[in-house]
Amino acid sequence: MKSTQAPLPFPGRQSDSHKGDFGRVVLIGGSRGMAGSISLSSMAALHTGSGLVTAVVPDRCLETVAGFHPGIMTLPLPATPAGEFAQTTGGVPDMIESVVASNATVAKADAIGCGPGMGTGAGSVRIVRWLLEQTDRCRVFDADAINIIAQHRFLDRPPLPRRQASVVLTPHPGELARLTGVSPSDRPGQIEAAETLVRRHAFTIVLKGGPTEVLGPVDPSEEAGTCQRHTNTTGNPGMATAGSGDVLTGMMTSLLGQGLGPWDAARLAVYVHGLAGDLAAKAHSQPAMTCVELLGRIGDAIATTE
Ligand code: AMP
Ligand code: MG
Repeated sequence: MKSTQAPLPFPGRQSDSHKGDFGRVVLIGGSRGMAGSISLSSMAALHTGSGLVTAVVPDRCLETVAGFHPGIMTLPLPATPAGEFAQTTGGVPDMIESVVASNATVAKADAIGCGPGMGTGAGSVRIVRWLLEQTDRCRVFDADAINIIAQHRFLDRPPLPRRQASVVLTPHPGELARLTGVSPSDRPGQIEAAETLVRRHAFTIVLKGGPTEVLGPVDPSEEAGTCQRHTNTTGNPGMATAGSGDVLTGMMTSLLGQGLGPWDAARLAVYVHGLAGDLAAKAHSQPAMTCVELLGRIGDAIATTE
């Protein structure tokens, strides 16, 4: 195993703390046939310490997601016959706003993660657009949420705010290629393209891979400011398995919900996620480990960083 020096300590707990102290987080995603993705993110958020986790899912996969873990709260939105988020007559943004207004956990969400297993249909597009406008909230965009941002060129379109310092993007090289046009095989070119996005939009970007690179603004308020870069030291090719990234999305959203800023949340999440992967590989071998063993090692990984 590689370095075990965490970039920062894991957030501690006071003896008189209660679940409200550790963040209410919301994970939006899933679809029929892809219910496991958002369930993995939600379980990862619970295992990373979030006090309250709500999965917002198309109603056709509600029972599946709820059945994965009794600690996950679920909130259904209308689904298409294929089981993706539907675009309702009132408009999904209106519907989401009414859900936000009526559900205390969602209304008070400290962080929202979006994308795993969501599909790129019209309902999902409206959700991503709505979420891009929620600039006072910490948000993580992953997987299909990134694909939607790329497909619809949402980064170039007013009236969406250009500077988004409370956003973390977690693309794998294929998703970054869709966003920037730079080939996944051109790693230096991808890093440079991610730096350009950081300078322009003030995002924090987690460019996944072996190793994962974290890029973020030195000063988010500085227009076209300087980009800083951190190379993660944990992780292994056993993590190249379905669902690994979904686990990271939940961990990242959890740490943002616990009050870490995007730069710290991103560096600590990728470190602990990679370390959990290293522990899972040690116990099960790289070929045999799956996202389930990765999830099961989050606790051991956190224990080494406290
Ligand atoms: P995703 O493709 O979204 O499922 O994400 C895959 C996750 O596994 C990311 O966190 C990657 O950093 C990690 N991963 C995949 N392949 C490797 C590798 N060869 N070495 C280290 N980490 C990897
Ligand atoms: Mg992924």
